[in-house]
Amino acid sequence: MTVLAIDLGGSHAACALVRAGGILASKTISAAGGAGLKDLLPSVNKALLELMRSAGIDCAHCSAVVMGFPGIAVARERRVVATNAKFDDAPDLDLVAWFKDTLELPFLIENDARLALLGEAVYGAARGARDAVMITLGTGIGGAAMLDGRLIQSGHGLAGTIGGHLPLSMYGRTCTCGNIGCAESEGSTFFLPVVYREQPGGAEGALAGRKAIGFAELFEAAEAGDKPARSALDHCIRAWAVLTVGLIHMYDPEVVVLGGSVMKREAQILPRLQQYVKEHAWTPGRTVPLRVAALGSDAALLGAIPLAEYSL
Ligand SMILES: [Zn+2]
Repeated sequence: MTVLAIDLGGSHAACALVRAGGILASKTISAAGGAGLKDLLPSVNKALLELMRSAGIDCAHCSAVVMGFPGIAVARERRVVATNAKFDDAPDLDLVAWFKDTLELPFLIENDARLALLGEAVYGAARGARDAVMITLGTGIGGAAMLDGRLIQSGHGLAGTIGGHLPLSMYGRTCTCGNIGCAESEGSTFFLPVVYREQPGGAEGALAGRKAIGFAELFEAAEAGDKPARSALDHCIRAWAVLTVGLIHMYDPEVVVLGGSVMKREAQILPRLQQYVKEHAWTPGRTVPLRVAALGSDAALLGAIPLAEYSL
């Protein structure tokens, strides 16, 4: 099976010709997320046609167009239902009709993080797993869950996707989503300035007063001996560990995949998470292995193949 895959980001759209086992050809076009999806579609089609031409094939050789969208998509209805300041016109577009009229191909859509888990499960860190969970750590905390080789789908598109808003503490701080004590409000980059300030000595530490702090800086400050940075890091790693156990209890995965640029610090993070899971997850007779995402930005494009295989 060959599919045309599109992975929409905030500032670019990766277009690719994908076949089981790999990406045959790809092309990234710039896409200002705030500018809307409708105006971008002709450029996307142009890129897809160029890719097919370069590979010597046409639409008749392809099974579908698959889109990874940075917002909430209902896969079974093949449409976007909610956005977050990226391609806000998408819920009003009939993407099925667009790709049928222009390329004469069926159209499939999934949330981008969910599609990335499918890619990791078939070709990457969770290769071979039928049941898997993925947690993406960054400005926010993303999640995805797959059972029996398929992404969990619900009528509103949320099932399995909002692990970052799983409450870790009923006495925690208020999250951006309005809930109390979410994983995201305890261990995401967005909340790091607050988490840092609340540590002992945080008001006078090396990163005091900063409006934004990244995990790379936090690690560097901790390694330079800054005590609030060390305790803020311990706090975040503990939050990720508690979240991981919560998701293991919810979904009973064979493996948990962790993504996000902070996982470049795998050696300092993963053993601590794994130890916490070993001690606290209730999985009789086994310990769920944790692995770092392996496919990077190719994951969602590669996820297009398994999605098409079970959706068409
Ligand atoms: Zn939340």
